[in-house]
Amino acid sequence: MSEEKKIPYKIYLEENEMPTKWHNVRAAMKDKPAPLINPGTHEPMGFEDLRPVFCDELIKQELDNDTEYFDIPREILDFYKMYRPSPLVRAYCLEKKLDTPAKIYYKFEGNNTSGSHKLNSAIAQAYYAKEQGLKGLTTETGAGQWGTALSMACAYLGLDLKVFMVKVSYEQKPFRREVMRTYGASVTPSPSMETNIGKKINAEHPGTTGSLGCAISEAVEVATSTEGYRYVLGSVLNQVLLHQSIIGLETKAALDKYGIVPDMIIGCAGGGSNLGGLISPFMAEKIRGEKDYRIVAVEPASCPSFTRGKYAYDFCDTGMVCPLAKMYTLGSNFIPSANHAGGLRYHGMSPVLSKLYDDGYLEAVSVEQTSVFEAATQFARTEGILPAPESSHAIKVAIDEAKKCKETGEEKTIVFGLTGTGYFDLTAYQKFNDGEMTDYIPTDEELKKSFDLLPKL
Ligand SMILES: *Cc1c(COP(=O)(O)O)cnc(C)c1O
Repeated sequence: MSEEKKIPYKIYLEENEMPTKWHNVRAAMKDKPAPLINPGTHEPMGFEDLRPVFCDELIKQELDNDTEYFDIPREILDFYKMYRPSPLVRAYCLEKKLDTPAKIYYKFEGNNTSGSHKLNSAIAQAYYAKEQGLKGLTTETGAGQWGTALSMACAYLGLDLKVFMVKVSYEQKPFRREVMRTYGASVTPSPSMETNIGKKINAEHPGTTGSLGCAISEAVEVATSTEGYRYVLGSVLNQVLLHQSIIGLETKAALDKYGIVPDMIIGCAGGGSNLGGLISPFMAEKIRGEKDYRIVAVEPASCPSFTRGKYAYDFCDTGMVCPLAKMYTLGSNFIPSANHAGGLRYHGMSPVLSKLYDDGYLEAVSVEQTSVFEAATQFARTEGILPAPESSHAIKVAIDEAKKCKETGEEKTIVFGLTGTGYFDLTAYQKFNDGEMTDYIPTDEELKKSFDLLPKL
């Protein structure tokens, strides 16, 4: 029987093969990621310190560096079943087009209305808020995927949701905004005049179109000053990587089912949640010395946190109200160039992935956005799926690696994370199709300006 017959295009798990626990990669790490610290006292933040901002159960997950597996509550598993298991797809058509001996697989997380992996953590965070008896949640959203996912989760559980949406996206992505409103969320452009920090930022930077860091500050302010509300974040945090481990656990189960061992695992990295989730069980094997996978993070050259950032304590937000996190960062003042359209524009990176990168377990590469859209287009035309620009960073490097295999004749097995679909990113595709997309790479001087403002500890 030919190999094509043995391995189906789409490997689906049966319902009873789906993971029922999340995997915590921190349990396998010999050196743990650095703790969040209080910006005033520089002391590590404990359970009580974080309670005004986050839900109790989520704080426990955030601070737990030792428990290897967490049971996924029944109600979350039931919700997951509406759109999971997600398929692991063998990219036969792309392989053929590239004429490569490499075997390419992608784990596709775009098969739900929110269009991305973010729903995996949104439902978990909303569930624990509901369990705690809270009325509602606040959050920020940039491009809108996280806000959309959280709106769906809050609608399902009957929670109120207030979203601060970066003003430029609020104006340029009216359809994203309407999806959130349809699911019952209230959406406010940020910086707004509804919060003290928003008023301050508007006064200091008249006409500003906002940033993620600024929207985070507003959402935290409203959560901490409103009875029965807490703040939730869609990436970066340890708890989000934990919830996203469902991606990696399913991928591993599907590969194991057919005896496939990947040589390389590739994912795009904004705040690090999809990559952290995809690699979670594989990274644990690598740390324990059982397997040796190449694990690669791909980031935009216009927002290169890993490849050009500093590993330092920094603010997670512009208003400097959040705890400090030790991470690879471009500085909380860094805002990517206005012509950057490919997403992944957060200034920092997950403390877990930052530690793994610093310890040499993880590689990182940066790619320019026109090459990302070329890869996206090639992928759409061969595999059929219109990929999110963020996901296309991983596609770009997977294609580059498969081309290298063609030169060397190596039959490597490459797995990458296809985090979502690009239907709300057609303005960016339009720019690319019209030949108007340009690449911008920040200069060392620009980065230095931002590094100079890092908090001094
Ligand atoms: C948010 C998002 C990302 C980047 O976030 P991570 O936390 O780094 O995973 C990547 N792809 C899609 C489709 C997204 O919505």
